Amino acid sequence: MTRRFPPPDELVRKLEGGDRSALGRALTLVESTRGLHRALAQEVLQRLSEPAEPAFRVGISGVPGVGKSSLIETLGLHLVERGHRVAVLAVDPSSLRTGGSILADKTRMPHLSRRSEAFVRPSPSSGTLGGVARRTREMMVLCESAGFDVVLVETVGVGQSETDVAMMVDTYLVLMLAGAGDEVQGIKKGILEWADLVAITKADGDNAVRAQRAATDLRSALSIFTPASAAWRVPVLTLSAHAQQGISELWDGVRRHRLQGRKNGRFEARRSHQREHWLWATVHDQLREAFDRHPEVRRIRARVQAEVLSGTSTPQQGADALLQAFGIDLAAVS
Ligand code: GDP
Repeated sequence: MTRRFPPPDELVRKLEGGDRSALGRALTLVESTRGLHRALAQEVLQRLSEPAEPAFRVGISGVPGVGKSSLIETLGLHLVERGHRVAVLAVDPSSLRTGGSILADKTRMPHLSRRSEAFVRPSPSSGTLGGVARRTREMMVLCESAGFDVVLVETVGVGQSETDVAMMVDTYLVLMLAGAGDEVQGIKKGILEWADLVAITKADGDNAVRAQRAATDLRSALSIFTPASAAWRVPVLTLSAHAQQGISELWDGVRRHRLQGRKNGRFEARRSHQREHWLWATVHDQLREAFDRHPEVRRIRARVQAEVLSGTSTPQQGADALLQAFGIDLAAVS
């Protein structure tokens, strides 16, 4: 069934007036994989004016069970109590397999999602991971235009989704559990490559001392990786969503990071670098999607793959054949 959408001008006007149903419709357009909807979505995005004061864009990453949703619920409520309007979005790689997102799910943040000052929307669940990230980034821009001045983007702290989220936020928060060598492992795996802030979660009850110890260890480990001249030294905090401890300290850290970045120009430089990233990421991602959908490619792909598997053709010959079917003659472009 085709839903009718108001003209882009009208949608933009209502959206910027804070109309929630207009926001919902614009988000639906952005999430859609249909060409017509995508074109309309781009018209809407292009017409939006930048908020007078840029919103807080904060990424929150961590393995399942680390306490992301509990923190977002507590932090989100803390922020709405202080007059902020908070949108929660997610880049959830598992949404592509299951067709639904477990992150930014309303049932995981029941109190926050009931507040009129908050908006919780799960990850898009079709396309490629790159496409999901791109749409989440566009959803973030829509939420900001609808008056949400804080956008929290949740993701699991592994692989491509982490890079994607780091590339759409101003401040990237990595959550970690105390113990089990998680902190040292994090550094090894390069998980901390993107972190602007690190927080050890569940620092309450029996776990409080262990969390403090983990934070101390992590601080000293991090100081080895950070040059003394670095403009920003990544703070390592401890917090408890359940005991509501460390929440305002965490937000202070986010604000300090933003203030410093706005003073020394890193904030703007980062946003501009991100726009460049999204330009090329979008080109590459859409090329891939177009390639996968191309009828001639689809017609010959099974045969080409079988030939490469059996050794009749080399991988390069197979790739040449597929690219030629797509309309790219490698000999002509190289
Ligand atoms: P997520 O998978 O990263 O979103 O993690 P959840 O927020 O769902 O939390 C996973 C589990 O840890 C749940 O059983 C929570 O009740 C528990 N948990 C989350 N935050 C805290 C906390 O601050 N203290 C304690 N003790 N448990 C917590």
